[in-house]
Amino acid sequence: MAYVITSLCIDCKDTACADVCPVECIYDYKGGDGKFANQLFIQPEECIDCTNCEPACPWKAIFEEDEVPAVFHADIEKNRAIIDDIGNFEVATVVKDHSPTPAQIAENFAKWGYKG
Ligand code: SF4
Ligand code: SF4
Repeated sequence: MAYVITSLCIDCKDTACADVCPVECIYDYKGGDGKFANQLFIQPEECIDCTNCEPACPWKAIFEEDEVPAVFHADIEKNRAIIDDIGNFEVATVVKDHSPTPAQIAENFAKWGYKG
């Protein structure tokens, strides 16, 4: 089991999750060809289920694999898919510049038809 970053991270990427990950298993795609979405991903075989990242994400984009909402189930495989392409990923650099309001978080949820 591992934690999963969902599409709620797309274009957010403030990296608060990477700042608290003790094993540096949160990655950013550097391929530059749009093959992977503009978000961070958790390498599931490296994740040690420490739970740190889930509450750290200001956009509420991270879930334990068993608790990923149905609308984001495809994201489980999208995180796993980075294993086969890891040469095009780098451990995410910490930036941490987001403080979304509750309204902004709700608006991001709504983009995906997710009610939270
Ligand atoms: S903290 Fe959340 S929104 Fe920010 S990069 Fe990590 S998963 Fe994405
Ligand atoms: S649960 Fe812990 S080890 Fe897994 S990605 Fe989150 S911070 Fe890293």
